[in-house]
Amino acid sequence: MTIKILPPQLANQIAAGEVVERPASVVKELVENSLDAGASQIDIDIEKGGSKLIRIRDNGSGIAEQELVLALSRHATSKIGNLDDLAQITSLGFRGEALASISSVSRLTLTSKPAGQAAAWQAQAEGRDMAVTVKPAAHPDGTSIEVVDLFFNTPARRKFLRTDKTEFSHIDELIKRLALSRFDVSWQLNHNGQSVRRLPLANSDNARQKRVALLCGKAFAEQAAYIENSYGVMKLSGWILAPQACQSQPGCQYCYVNGRMMRDKLLNHAIRQAYGERLTAEQQPGFVLYLQITPAEVDVNVHPAKHEVRFHQARLVHDFVVSALSDALAQLANEQARPQQK
Ligand code: ADP
Ligand code: MG
Repeated sequence: MTIKILPPQLANQIAAGEVVERPASVVKELVENSLDAGASQIDIDIEKGGSKLIRIRDNGSGIAEQELVLALSRHATSKIGNLDDLAQITSLGFRGEALASISSVSRLTLTSKPAGQAAAWQAQAEGRDMAVTVKPAAHPDGTSIEVVDLFFNTPARRKFLRTDKTEFSHIDELIKRLALSRFDVSWQLNHNGQSVRRLPLANSDNARQKRVALLCGKAFAEQAAYIENSYGVMKLSGWILAPQACQSQPGCQYCYVNGRMMRDKLLNHAIRQAYGERLTAEQQPGFVLYLQITPAEVDVNVHPAKHEVRFHQARLVHDFVVSALSDALAQLANEQARPQQK
């Protein structure tokens, strides 16, 4: 075979294979864009587990008319401009691939109005040749993205979708995790026209506590202690469940690094180690923990879906988390089961 440059759609579909695994991955990318745009309200409508429709509406900064087409192009991003930016990343996105990838495997409509622009504009991209049409539209300040018929042109992917119920449960779980990291955002999630979650802004301790109870259950909210601990450039805060309240089925087990949700081996290991012998083999720890660390100390560009990070001083981070949590658990043990949080 001779060497050829791939046509853009095929290149985008190959890239989509890395980030767009299922409807929940589309929701993740779109919601992260809304958060990066500074939205304080995010409304999500899902139909048929996301295979029919995913619609995200936000009240963020919007995209200017002349940038709509660019937003849909591959490697187009407003978030970084050079290698130094990549090392200091504070936004959730930065690869400039999500919209291009998603639009290559669906029928995507992007409608937006920045606050300073007189009217809204809409761009439509339909799988096939990646040609984008732009026309005027009606929309309040902010952005709506509609993804219809996900994987309609990639049957192999479509075949791997599970039932609507299963796909929706992945989306719901994702929103739950996001909502636990952004109390300063109000969230609405609907499935097939039915309201599933309605989470108002939670800017006070009391409101945050309420949201944790809604998302992790009343038992968790009542039996978890709020902790806060810093060391050098690191700060760990959040809720940790008293050992005697830990059940055999995993409840809330959520970790965030600089606001980004993680399934991080190092952190999970540190948490386990801190609980240590306080738990029986069957008991599962419960936690919602936020690690803040100087962006330069962590590399987020490890995995396309950004599920993993690499800490430059892994040992230091691990030991800090173990000692912060051990202290908190020892204190909890002293005070026994005591329903007191922040
Ligand atoms: P990335 O998030 O990596 O920059 P995306 O393909 O997800 O790449 O988005 C491309 C660009 O489109 C973003 O950099 C941003 O400028 C713009 N954008 C996407 N979604 C939104 C949104 N909801 N509100 C404002 N701007 C957006
Ligand atoms: Mg993005």
